[in-house]
This record gives sequence, structure tokens and C-alpha cells, in this order.
Amino acid sequence: MKIVLVGLNYKEHAQELGMDLPQEPVIFVKPESAIVGNGDNIVLPQGVGRVDYEGEIAVVIGRPIKGLCPSEVTEHVLWGVTALNDVTARDLQKKDGQWIRAKGFPSFCPIGNKLLSYDLKQEIILQTFLNGQQVQYGSSKDFIFDVRFLVSFVSKIFPLMPGDIISTGTPVGVGQIKPGDVVEVKVSIGEDSVLLRNYVI
Ligand code: ZN
Repeated sequence: MKIVLVGLNYKEHAQELGMDLPQEPVIFVKPESAIVGNGDNIVLPQGVGRVDYEGEIAVVIGRPIKGLCPSEVTEHVLWGVTALNDVTARDLQKKDGQWIRAKGFPSFCPIGNKLLSYDLKQEIILQTFLNGQQVQYGSSKDFIFDVRFLVSFVSKIFPLMPGDIISTGTPVGVGQIKPGDVVEVKVSIGEDSVLLRNYVI
């Protein structure tokens, strides 16, 4: 199983960082051992410095695919959409210059326990809450690279299998988590939603 994540993918976040919009997605992967579920703890490792939440919309692949064009990415290749928290040791990310260590610790990939059906035309809304306060809000309408493009792009690099996950990047408002915090990522499509809640220890 593969967990593929996308770097910068929201226009406003790019503008906030003063960066040009990327011409292609920057992608990375997390190990399966980073996954935890709803209600599980995010365990901060000793001595890594600042750790941040990154609320994200995650797409789960439903069929084996390889080398698809964007137009070939239909709802039939998707299993559904859920919430994901791309927990990141920010100091290590800057220090290493690549992201595997910063994003790969156990519990650094909380994933929602429910899949929302998605027809590729609907708007997906993302909200992140830290201790009950909303800290991030994003819409799939603000994606630089939409779901069709992202699934196509990744499928041209390596084959994707049912259950593989593509996480679509985080909007503005990332921030630090500390022991005792509760972080929630909510993803909504119309009236349907999934809430991912984790405690930080
Ligand atoms: Zn991220």
C-alpha cells in the first residue's frame, strides 16, 4: 500500500509563502507504519523540535490503474475521499532538505475511518480544528492541481492499487501541536462528512 502526498497545492497558501505556483506537483510518500486511526494518539518523538498538523483531503484509489490521462480518471477509479493529517516535524523538514524523516514517524499519518463518495464535480471542503478552534479552511476549488490531474500524474510514475492513498496538500494555517492538544480534520462533501480526531502526547 502506498501513501502519496502532494506538497503545495492551494493557491492562497502559495501566495502566503510568496512562492510562484508550481508547474508540476511535488510529491512524497509516507511509510504505512505512520498510519493511525480516528481517536488514536499522535506521539511526538523526543528531540525533533517543532511538529505541525497539516489537515488534508485524501483520495483513496479503488481500482488498479497505471499511466492514466486526466480524462481517464473517472469516479470509477476512486474508492472515495477521507480526512488525513500530514503531521510534519517542521525543523527536520528544513534541516534535511527532503521530507521522509520529517513526515515518516509512527503516528504521523492519521487517516479518517469513513470514505465519502465523490463524483469529481462536487466541491470538497476541509476544516482543521486545534482544541476546538478552526485553524484551517480549504476548498477543492482552490487546488492548483485537481484530483483528476493528481491521480493521473501519480499513476504515470508508478501503478496504483485499490487502497492506495493520494493526499492533496494542505491549505493556509498550518501550526504547531503540543502534548495535550486535540487536533481534528473534517472533510465534507455536501451533507456528508468525516471527522478525524487525534490527541497529541
Ligand atoms: Zn502536507
